[in-house]
Amino acid sequence: MSVRAAARLLEGAPIAGEIRARVATDVAEFVAAHGHPPGLTVVVCGRSAPSMVYLERILKACAAVGIEGRFVDVPGDEPTAQSVELTSALLRLNDDPTVSGIIVQMPLPPGIGLRTVIDVIDPLKDIDGIHPLNAGLLRLGYEGFVPATAHAALEVLERSGVTIPGAEAVVVGRSPVVGMPVAFMLVKGGATVTVCHSKTRDLAAHTRRADIVVVAAGQPGLVTGAMLKPGAVVVDVGINVVDGHIVGDVDFASAREVAAAITPVPGGVGPLTNALLLAHLVRAAQRQAVERAETAAAARVPSGRAQPPPA
Ligand code: NAP
Repeated sequence: MSVRAAARLLEGAPIAGEIRARVATDVAEFVAAHGHPPGLTVVVCGRSAPSMVYLERILKACAAVGIEGRFVDVPGDEPTAQSVELTSALLRLNDDPTVSGIIVQMPLPPGIGLRTVIDVIDPLKDIDGIHPLNAGLLRLGYEGFVPATAHAALEVLERSGVTIPGAEAVVVGRSPVVGMPVAFMLVKGGATVTVCHSKTRDLAAHTRRADIVVVAAGQPGLVTGAMLKPGAVVVDVGINVVDGHIVGDVDFASAREVAAAITPVPGGVGPLTNALLLAHLVRAAQRQAVERAETAAAARVPSGRAQPPPA
C-alpha cells in the first residue's frame, strides 16, 4: 500500500522576510535620492479593538523598514458628519506630498459607504487597489495597484513552483478585494479560471478538477480534502475565528493529505499581505517622485521654446 506524503507547507513568513528586506533597501535608496522617507498614512474611521491591533502592526512594520507610518483618526459615531470628515481627511492626504500611500481601514462603520473612499482617494496613492481605476487597470491587464491580499495569494503560488500557464484554477469567492482580483491575475498568468461563489451548484465538482485552488469565502472548513484533486496546490485566504482559534476556509487536516502544497492559516497568506503593502507603498513613492520631477522639468522649459523659429 502506498502512503501519500503530506502536502508541502507554503509558509508566508520567509517570503515576507525577503520582501521586507528588499523594501528596506529600496527605502534607503529613496531616502538617499530624495532626502525624506516614503510615507504611509492609515485612516481609521471609528476605532475598534481589531482596527487598533492592525494599525499597531502596520505602523511597526513601517518603522522596521524605514517608512514613515502615520495614522489619521476620523472620530465620531454619526455617519453623515463622519463621511464629511473622512472625505476632507482624504483630500488633505491626496494633496500632501509627504504622503505616498493611503490605506483606509475596512470595514467602514455602518452608514458610511465605500464610495466615500473610492470617489475621493487618489488612485496613485491607493496602494491597496480599491479605486476603480486600479481595478480597471487590473481587468485590462495593465499595471496598477492590486489589493495586497490578492497579490499575496499570487505571490505564494508563483513561489510554490506551480506552473500557472495552462493550469486549471478554481477561485472560491468573488469579492472585489480578494476573489475577483485573484481570478484576473490567474487569467493574466495563463491559467484557465473558474470562479465559484455562494450560488455555485456543486462546488466540489469544480474544485476536484483544479490544479490550483484559491479559497476566499470566509467559511471555515468549506473545502475539504475530499473536494481536491490529488496533487493540487491550495491557497487558503480565509481568516475565521472558531472557538478562539484562527482557522482558514480549508479543512487543513484532510486537505493536507491530498494536496501537493498548501498554505497554513495562520502563517500563510496573512504575513505576506502587509509586506506587499509596504512594497506597493515604495512603488507609489517612486512613481510620484518621477511625476513630480517631470512636472518640474516641464515648468522649467522656457515658454518661447515651443515657438517656431522666425521666418
Ligand atoms: P466576502 O466579501 O464576504 O466574500 C466572500 C465570497 O465567498 C463571496 O463571493 C461569497 O459568494 C463566497 N462564498 C461565501 N460562502 C460560500 C460558499 N458556501 N460556497 C462558495 N462561495 C461562498 O469576503 P472577502 O473579503 O473576500 O474575504 C474572504 C476571506 O478572506 C475572509 O475569511 C476574510 O477574513 C479573509 N481575508 C483575508 C485577508 C488576509 O490578509 N489573509 C485579507 C482579506 C480577507 P457570494 O458573492 O455569492 O456572496
